[in-house]
Amino acid sequence: MESLFQEHVDELRDRGIINDENVQFAELADKAAEEMYLDEVDAYIRHQINVKQQFAVLKKYGLLGLQVPKKYSGLEGDAFSFSLVFERLGQVGMGVVTGFDVQTCLTEATLLKWANEEQKQKYMVPLAKGDKMMSFCLTEPGEGSDPTSLQTRFDEVKGGFEVSGEKYLITNGSYADAFIVFCRNKERGISAILVDRDDKHVKVETEIKEKLGLFTSDTTLLKFDRAFAPKENLLGKFGEGLKLAYTGLFTGRLGIAAGCVGAIEDCLNASLSRARERVQFGKAIGKHQMVQHRIAVIEQQLEAARLSVDRGAYWKKKFDSNMMDSELRKRADHAITLAKVIATGAASKAADNAVQMHGGSGYSILSSVGRHYIDVRASRIYEGTNDVLELKLASDLLGKDFEVYR
Ligand SMILES: Cc1cc2nc3c(=O)[nH]c(=O)nc-3n(C[C@H](O)[C@H](O)[C@H](O)COP(=O)(O)OP(=O)(O)OC[C@H]3O[C@@H](n4cnc5c(N)ncnc54)[C@H](O)[C@@H]3O)c2cc1C
Repeated sequence: MESLFQEHVDELRDRGIINDENVQFAELADKAAEEMYLDEVDAYIRHQINVKQQFAVLKKYGLLGLQVPKKYSGLEGDAFSFSLVFERLGQVGMGVVTGFDVQTCLTEATLLKWANEEQKQKYMVPLAKGDKMMSFCLTEPGEGSDPTSLQTRFDEVKGGFEVSGEKYLITNGSYADAFIVFCRNKERGISAILVDRDDKHVKVETEIKEKLGLFTSDTTLLKFDRAFAPKENLLGKFGEGLKLAYTGLFTGRLGIAAGCVGAIEDCLNASLSRARERVQFGKAIGKHQMVQHRIAVIEQQLEAARLSVDRGAYWKKKFDSNMMDSELRKRADHAITLAKVIATGAASKAADNAVQMHGGSGYSILSSVGRHYIDVRASRIYEGTNDVLELKLASDLLGKDFEVYR
């Protein structure tokens, strides 16, 4: 296991925060990360989207059913198993983390909470087994932070619905077998509908390849043109679409935050090696005070990110054991939002410090710190921009009268 990750796992175990089962999940993630690392770097450098290869490895270790109960073919990992797996994969890169987060959180966690038994068997089980993929389609060209203004519509037709509209920046959109589409109808309000891929009515308009980073993650603009879904594909109730969306995001934000902890660990590992090996002015650069300062700052960023993620996992675990408790949900939601804002912000700063410390060789996608630098940038934007999440954090503290975002 990569040293800083191992150290984190050992400490959590020694402090009695995690158990043997959590450690086994960490070991599983370690094997998967080892196995995918070289392929991931190679694909990244070539700007090749290798989602299929990533998912093949994740499937091999059962990780695509990370949180799904065993009776639905998952591994039933608790919140600490979850965050440790994301942390280890984050060392490989946020490209893997992004696609994995969409499958295990945005789609599976949403289905777990809202799908009926038939929908779980039809859609969630194949996702957990790694046999199928699904995308989460909320964002549109004209709507991002404010999903209440989404324009994709559904019409009620004989036997079901027809969904029409565009969905933007959709992860795994080129590969998904089905989509959770958030769409509206005048009478029914914003609802979530499961739409199967159908080449005639669901088109990948654009594979978005001009991204700043995340080259191994698939990002798409999708067009739904009267895509039919049978009436049994309504997820939850009419008008509950956004409530459903928040279920996925609630878990997903913890995954992204934990992935960022891994990215910072990798930046620190790489920076320590560089500081010991690179010689300038007749001595290892790690003997220059400014370089030592940067190392100390990256460690502080790691510490802040780790503690916030551990705390998010703690509250998620508590909430998972009593999901009817709305107070617990609020605590967990707040802790996870904090973790997302802290860890993604810390990762951006840590990667920036690591690139600086590496000098010109760090300013390259051939270097792991260079890849983290451009990849972690997206984590402050997706799954709720950090700016908007700060509004949520503040109003949680100030009280309901101050709520400007929910
Ligand atoms: C790589 C990547 C993958 C993604 N994958 C998915 C996916 O799988 N599915 C999906 O549905 N979406 C996905 N997204 C979309 C992502 O969730 C949105 O980009 C995000 O929600 C922000 O929306 P926006 O880009 O439209 O920005 P906007 O909402 O237009 O925001 C622009 C700026 O205004 C600020 N702002 C907006 N409102 C306020 C406010 N009230 N107060 C203060 N500041 C405000 C924002 O913080 C931001 O800085 C992905 C995005 C990226 C980059």
